[in-house]
Amino acid sequence: MKLKNIVFTILLLLTILSTNNVHAALNHYESSVQSIQTQIYIPIVATLFDAINGNPVNAIAPQYVTILQQYDNWILIPTWIGEKWINTAARLPHNAQIIALTFDDGPSRHTDRLLDALYERGVPATFFVLGSRVERYPDTARRIVAEGHEIGNHTFGHPFLTRLCADSIYNELIWTSNTIYHTTGVRPSLMRPPYGAHNQTVRNVAAELGYPVIMWSVDTRDWERRNVNAIMSHIVRPNGTLRVRHGHNILMHDIHSTTVDAAIVMVDLLLSHGFTFVTVSELLEHRVGEPIAGQVYN
Ligand code: ZN
Repeated sequence: MKLKNIVFTILLLLTILSTNNVHAALNHYESSVQSIQTQIYIPIVATLFDAINGNPVNAIAPQYVTILQQYDNWILIPTWIGEKWINTAARLPHNAQIIALTFDDGPSRHTDRLLDALYERGVPATFFVLGSRVERYPDTARRIVAEGHEIGNHTFGHPFLTRLCADSIYNELIWTSNTIYHTTGVRPSLMRPPYGAHNQTVRNVAAELGYPVIMWSVDTRDWERRNVNAIMSHIVRPNGTLRVRHGHNILMHDIHSTTVDAAIVMVDLLLSHGFTFVTVSELLEHRVGEPIAGQVYN
């Protein structure tokens, strides 16, 4: 565990413990179901922390959560993890700063290391996968879905869609959707065109298939300079202030080992600044409500 993580965990634990007595709240819950106080709607995935030891927990917050206790901007909620309930703590979402990580062109042989790091930190991401890559790395594609990440359509073979006719664009997207569905059991609801290249024909086909067209807010250019510092220079300025803001989505490619290294540094930095990571669909829900098929979003 890196020093930064340890410091962050200790700060978190102190925040939870100093605001009130978590153990008393847990005992109260265990002794009486009537202790349930309120139910609220959480439209986004919050980063959850084990209320006992303060470690991040890889779990998706249920849409309706029961609040056991509320201290300042922290809430204590029971969460179903695998096969048991544990008590978790989360920041109240109304003042959360949300941000989405997006990884294109995978899965690859580097994706599992990225998934390990995201799992350890309880951080969701969005993977715009290629159909051809899902065929090659089916277990990794299934893991992406099983661990609560969003999977998006990035075409089958990564062509410039602007050079194709409508039928070919349609085939690229449908083959990929079918491959993802037959491999993981879910269908993507977003598409990102390779190279970000789109025209009216691309947008019309996307609309026909029900896909909003997803671009990005921050390009890390991780394919160009395979170096953690170079990638991070798109996230943080030399004076330490952040280039990224609430509501941004960050473009990376999980086909380079250096991208995985940089993503880990990036996640720890942004968590320490209080950002909550969400999927692109959750980011859009927060920003625009229901996204419109065929419309372009960054
Ligand atoms: Zn791509």
